[in-house]
Amino acid sequence: MNSSEERYKYCPVCAGTLKREPIEGYKRLQCLACGEIVYENPKSSVAILCRNDQNEILLVLRRVDPGAGLWCLPGGFIEMGETVQQAALRELKEETGLIAEIVRVVDAASKLNGYYGDVVVVAFEAKITGGVLCAGDDASDARFFPLNTLPTIAFGSHERFIRSLDS
Ligand SMILES: [Zn+2]
Repeated sequence: MNSSEERYKYCPVCAGTLKREPIEGYKRLQCLACGEIVYENPKSSVAILCRNDQNEILLVLRRVDPGAGLWCLPGGFIEMGETVQQAALRELKEETGLIAEIVRVVDAASKLNGYYGDVVVVAFEAKITGGVLCAGDDASDARFFPLNTLPTIAFGSHERFIRSLDS
């Protein structure tokens, strides 16, 4: 998307034309017909850090962009009606076949103006409790890597989450 181009052109309520106006100190999209303000917020996502008994970290090979062909932590976007913790465990199951429980929040990070616009990512450490390692969904492979021989990681935030672990 060109930065001078608006992602949303029409009002989600009445299909009227949206125009960017100064509102509440921000340039917000507002409907010229009904006055509806379209609030734009960062997308919420999760990343999951799982280690095996050898202290190796679980990574998935990305099948799609952004970062197709590169490795990253299992993760993805939070669905409506789902908690951030549920999203983490669901994404882990979908991409790696593994079942886990949340141990702790590792960190949170923001990516501004990226492939999906602005994104917030919350990183959890999780303990594997079941399942069989098998790549699925957006992952074409899923493997454990020793922390000192990591492949190229698709996202700077994921790399920082991994580096923050005790090696
Ligand atoms: Zn409208």
